[in-house]
Amino acid sequence: MTGNNAERIDLSRAHSARVYDFILGGKDNYEADRAAAAAALEAWPGLRTSMHINRAVMHRMANWLASEAKVDQFLDIGTGIPTAPNLHQVVQGVTPDARVVYVDNDPIVLAHARALLTGTPEGRTAYVEADMREPDNILSAPELHETLDLSRPVALTVIAVLQFVEDASWLIQRLLEPLASGSYLALTLATAELAPESAALAATYTRRGIPMYLRTRSEVEELFAGAGLELLSPGVVPMHHWRPEPGEELAEAAAVNMYAGVGRKP
Ligand code: SAH
Repeated sequence: MTGNNAERIDLSRAHSARVYDFILGGKDNYEADRAAAAAALEAWPGLRTSMHINRAVMHRMANWLASEAKVDQFLDIGTGIPTAPNLHQVVQGVTPDARVVYVDNDPIVLAHARALLTGTPEGRTAYVEADMREPDNILSAPELHETLDLSRPVALTVIAVLQFVEDASWLIQRLLEPLASGSYLALTLATAELAPESAALAATYTRRGIPMYLRTRSEVEELFAGAGLELLSPGVVPMHHWRPEPGEELAEAAAVNMYAGVGRKP
């Protein structure tokens, strides 16, 4: 961690990356994050299970994009504090020369970026510190253009992030604009439609300084349609229903608070 970067890490209030890290059992969190995590778990005790399921869904989506959709370039926004396996480890396990650009706006993620930048010798990973709400800063980053060839398909992965941005629709559209035909959007995001008691989470996070926006299934479908994407089977579904492993036992819908979906740019 560089001195300057350490100074930029604000310990006085909770950050979503660190609350998530704490609930998943990580060590990169502070008192304000642990207090927010305790309040969130009290508001909706299903949160921990749901977060673990979200990680599993991210692994399945990344694996499907690499092995079935044959995508070998990834732009991952809202990466989070490294948690093995990270996305590049999943996709490089399928395609060793896959390339991944990670983006997050939290300086603590930057502090741990080395774990994200150690991949296969054939592949390549890069890290861009940027706020998704300023998509042009992501699209103009030299690391993005040095790592990804935008004339070929890219998978834009936005996993468990869009609940932290208010106007998701135009951001997604702007980010997809320069991507080639045959590119993908994969997302998970929070809703109150599956586990209605989880609606209390949004108020808890917001009160602790992390504004959270919940969305309905039709709003998520509209995110794909509005960006001109073809929504792929099985559509926008409770996240654990997104291409589960054969024989996998599915949790009750009420055990998750997130939808998942993947779309393809025609
Ligand atoms: N994608 C990972 C981590 C999700 S936690 C996973 O699913 O396991 C949410 C992450 O989004 C945090 O790391 C947080 O710092 C990041 N984030 C939240 N708002 C953001 C924004 N406006 N721009 C970029 N990253 C953001």
